[in-house]
Amino acid sequence: MPTRYNIHTHRPPEHSDDILSIHSLYEQFEYMQDGRQYSIGLHPAHLQDHEMHFQTVQQLAGKDEVVAIGECGLDKLVSTSMSKQTAVFIQHIQLANTLGKPLIIHCVQAHEELLQVFRNHPAKVPVIIHGFNKRNSIAEKFLAQGFYLSFGVAILNIVSPATDVLKHIKNDRFFLETDDADVSIDTVYSRASEIRDTPLESLILQLEHNYKEVFNP
Ligand SMILES: [Zn+2]
Repeated sequence: MPTRYNIHTHRPPEHSDDILSIHSLYEQFEYMQDGRQYSIGLHPAHLQDHEMHFQTVQQLAGKDEVVAIGECGLDKLVSTSMSKQTAVFIQHIQLANTLGKPLIIHCVQAHEELLQVFRNHPAKVPVIIHGFNKRNSIAEKFLAQGFYLSFGVAILNIVSPATDVLKHIKNDRFFLETDDADVSIDTVYSRASEIRDTPLESLILQLEHNYKEVFNP
């Protein structure tokens, strides 16, 4: 079967020759294994000792196994101050720009602030808003910036905002993921093919195309 791409998971990736997963690490970076794909960065909810940990991210981010920077971003529901979150986020944008690797973004109730940061510190690399589950008007703001959206288990819920956005988004602007859910990426693909009324085979080929566009394998 052609490859399915899970662009964001925190679980040890599914063992399969035809599933390619990007394992997202925000700590314990030393567990990276050769020949796998990772995104590394400091999650806004985990910024204790961030100076030390960001140094580690910088040291490792140039490795071939690291295909993206993140997840990083802004989250209004965590206790870390927004000024600290913003400063660390900007460091990630700069690192991604330096390395030419895409950014995987975590954004919770902070889309205006996130867009403002990007206005002041433009990304020169592809930007993916992961775990998107907001209304269409917010999706449009991100898409207008050229960002990509990645959808996860929220689309298994028929009444979620993500389901509505996924129905209408252009073919070349999105990805699928499982994040920390204990769900196979194939379940997310099947559901996405139903929502978009697209044959599964076409969806698989489209997402392979999107992956190659953004992650430059
Ligand atoms: Zn995540």
